[in-house]
Amino acid sequence: MSVGAVLSGTKLAKSLKEALLVEVDAARRANTAFKPGLAVVQIGDRSDSNVYVGHKMKVANELGFKAEHVKLAASCTESEILATIEKLNEDNSIHGIIVQLPLDCLNHVDSLKCTTHVDAAKDVDGLHPLNAGKLAQGDLSSSFIPCTPQGCLELIKSSGISISGKSACVIGRSKIVGSPMADLLKWNHATVTMCHSKTQDLDKIVKQSDIVVIAIGSPQMLKGEWIKEGAVVIDCGINSVPDSTTVKGYRLVGDVDYESCAEKASFITPVPGGVGPMTVVMLMRNTFESAKRFYNISTSASMRSWKETSIPVEVKTPVPSDIQVSRSQTPKPIARLAEDIGLLPSEYSLYGKYKAKVSLDVEKRLAASVSGSYVVVTGITPTPLGEGKSTTSIGLAQGLCAHLGRNTFACLRQPSQGVTFGIKGGAAGGGYSQVIPMEEFNLHLTGDIHAITAANNLLAAAIDARMLHERNQADNALYGRLVPEIKGQKKFSKSQLRRLKRLEISKTNPAELTDEERVKFSRLNIDPDTITWQRVVDTNDRHLRKITIGQGDLENGHTRTTQYDIAVASELMAILALSSDLEDMQQRIGRIVIGQDTEGGPVSADDLGVVDALTVLMKDTVQPTLMQTVEGSPVFVHAGPFANIAHGNSSVVADRIALKLVGADGFVVTEAGFGADIGMEKFFNIKCRNSGLQPNVVVIVASVRALKMHGGAPKVTPGQNLPSVYNEQSLEMVEKGFSNLAKQIQNASYFGVPVVVAINTFASDTMEELELIQRLSRSAGAFDAVICEHFSKGGLGAVQLGEAVIKASKLPSSFKFLYDIKTPLVDKIRIIAQKIYGATDISLTEQAEKVAQKYESMGLGNLPICMAKTHLSLSHNPDLKGAPTDFILPIRDMRASVGAGFIYPLVGSIATMPGLPTRPCFVDIEIDPKTQVIDGLF
Ligand code: NAP
Repeated sequence: MSVGAVLSGTKLAKSLKEALLVEVDAARRANTAFKPGLAVVQIGDRSDSNVYVGHKMKVANELGFKAEHVKLAASCTESEILATIEKLNEDNSIHGIIVQLPLDCLNHVDSLKCTTHVDAAKDVDGLHPLNAGKLAQGDLSSSFIPCTPQGCLELIKSSGISISGKSACVIGRSKIVGSPMADLLKWNHATVTMCHSKTQDLDKIVKQSDIVVIAIGSPQMLKGEWIKEGAVVIDCGINSVPDSTTVKGYRLVGDVDYESCAEKASFITPVPGGVGPMTVVMLMRNTFESAKRFYNISTSASMRSWKETSIPVEVKTPVPSDIQVSRSQTPKPIARLAEDIGLLPSEYSLYGKYKAKVSLDVEKRLAASVSGSYVVVTGITPTPLGEGKSTTSIGLAQGLCAHLGRNTFACLRQPSQGVTFGIKGGAAGGGYSQVIPMEEFNLHLTGDIHAITAANNLLAAAIDARMLHERNQADNALYGRLVPEIKGQKKFSKSQLRRLKRLEISKTNPAELTDEERVKFSRLNIDPDTITWQRVVDTNDRHLRKITIGQGDLENGHTRTTQYDIAVASELMAILALSSDLEDMQQRIGRIVIGQDTEGGPVSADDLGVVDALTVLMKDTVQPTLMQTVEGSPVFVHAGPFANIAHGNSSVVADRIALKLVGADGFVVTEAGFGADIGMEKFFNIKCRNSGLQPNVVVIVASVRALKMHGGAPKVTPGQNLPSVYNEQSLEMVEKGFSNLAKQIQNASYFGVPVVVAINTFASDTMEELELIQRLSRSAGAFDAVICEHFSKGGLGAVQLGEAVIKASKLPSSFKFLYDIKTPLVDKIRIIAQKIYGATDISLTEQAEKVAQKYESMGLGNLPICMAKTHLSLSHNPDLKGAPTDFILPIRDMRASVGAGFIYPLVGSIATMPGLPTRPCFVDIEIDPKTQVIDGLF
């Protein structure tokens, strides 16, 4: 009889460990912060456990992991053990947790409860029901496979035999070895018999098996006579048997009678030196894989392409209504999408089934990993119907993600309900390029706008209430109420101490202030005529554009004329969009200037003591909301500042988090509101200056319809049929109107970023018109110009656009700002007017001159400019189409959003509260109360 070849676990483990070391080094090169962390929780002081844990710690250290041995006394309780595990679950430096069994505890402890308490994402022992379930179902890539069976599989593979089609038997059905071993062999296509203590005719089953794995803890139980000639025998057993010939008096044997089995087997593992050494290396490999998931190491071949998890669309012609398209797709549960894109369960909170808020901790976790490419989608000067920027942003993201296999995020603004119920209707994109469920996108979302409204109006109420109390109370009474005695003690609040500091009063004991200091501290003396902080509501309610407040009897006839703005025009919305985290938001809120005192000094939100209350109300808004496109790729919806008096771009944090999640080869497509002269200019000069991010590509969306309008075609009016010329071929008008697109391409080039033109096609466009735009765009300096059909075909219709964007992203970018931030305010305005709008010069009213000087003297001259101008023309006059040149841009007035961090010059009149038309969109919105199905949102 021949003797079976020995499958040495010692040798294989050594070479696997060396290979792992190389992989760990590569991961560290991809992300300098990369450091896998393994924690072993041990209860009591069993000597065998001490040896096993010590060995695990040693190997982890050799591989450069963080190794934490958490030892609890045998007297500990179950709740102490669970609390220890919870702490490790939350610890971002730990990526693998194991509970060393058996538990050596004096108190009754449910060991199953302990092992399943480990977060499934850190369960490197593979004992969590989620991991065991995944393995049972054949998901070998995203589950953690228990280490011993994984080591056994490596040993079997190292024999060179093919597992597929072989008959295998596994003896022992424990959760840690036998059961997962049977699953592993099954999914490697062996025909598996699972045996245990109640199995009858075990010898006969073994006799038929090409592969035998035994894990029962019974010394040398498996005899040679049972073994099929040429079988592979894997022995997991570790049993100590008395042996007086050894120094220790015992020796280790397996569950296999080695001598007799070796004669029949083709390959056999020894004990010791077989399965044992493999288990520890597999534990390290699991920990390494877990850490890679945590750090989102995209250079690894194991990083999952989001393409695999996209949902296919069945495209219909003609394209059904947006709501029908939205409803025809079943969205993925958002928790699944979150998992697909590598979010940890602790990093998101569910808002129903299809929306989740994502924690800013993701950015911290992935801080050192490589970001993806950054693409901004903007447009030419649009018709009042819009040219499909959101639709193109989503279509491009779908094309890149679901069709070209590049992990891609779309980052969009949250629409105002004013729009949804007013003129334009829902704003989730359109056709087969939209965010779903579109009802949830358009209505309430996760309540951010409501929170902003609440915070905004709290500050407005604080202003008027303070003026009333200052009016009605004598100095002493006012001071006494602002600093009341509580439990015999008078104390300043934190915000009051900050105010004292600003007033250069260094005292902290309220009793020590002089009468003069008390008056200075208590009286804000707000000049009602200077108040710029308005109330807001997220409804197009034109009758609130000018209102009188304070008409109640108790206000003693102190009325004041003021106004409501739409909530998205509030400074708090701009603050949300520009904040980098909650702390930054709090500081920005503290800088808000609501008006001036009677001596012309600024009065801030902090002077009113309302900063933290506002931050509390805004707390959850700082997290972006995760949703999905019709094709199941991820979308962040976050912030929606008005694009005229504010900067019209979605949030900085959403872009930042998305850039990390997509990984080095991925893309983030973010949309800038209105035309490139407004949204893109503000994107670069305000948002990018603020975030430090530099885009790789600009996509300018154009349409035949808009070019015809710029080329002299009649006016486009929402709610009315398009004049017939828009439905007939006119190369002449397209060529004439191209002047606007040419100017916007030039505008993008001022920032040194390559431009791709996306021609959003409509059914009435002719191929000659589309090709003409392509030719003209390329000769005007665009890197490429692509005909897109994403509205009617989804991501497939944007594949060429995606390819052009990928190529353009590889071009060297020489990004630069349009102006030096230190340039005086008026000069910055002139640079924008002349370079971007094509004006010959600017003219300032006396008022605008005066305010500019005041802002300079207040130290606000270093803020960027946020032009408040019509988006319907490159000039201030909405009727001037194309690329007008001979005009002087009139600056009527200037305002400061000190909290948001920009100065906004008013060019012409800007409505901050839209009105409702005769037949608003709400007329068509319906709900079936039985099914709760909503109709009419487009
Ligand atoms: P376990 O939880 O005690 O399970 C033993 C299994 O064996 C049970 O399913 C039991 O059947 C079955 N069994 C017991 N006697 C049997 C018999 N005479 N015939 C058929 N089946 C029998 O053990 P475990 O944790 O899986 O460990 C098994 C062995 O592997 C031990 O020696 C352990 O030290 C070793 N081990 C080694 C490593 C390593 O790193 N090398 C790791 C883990 C375990 P029932 O279910 O019907 O009771």
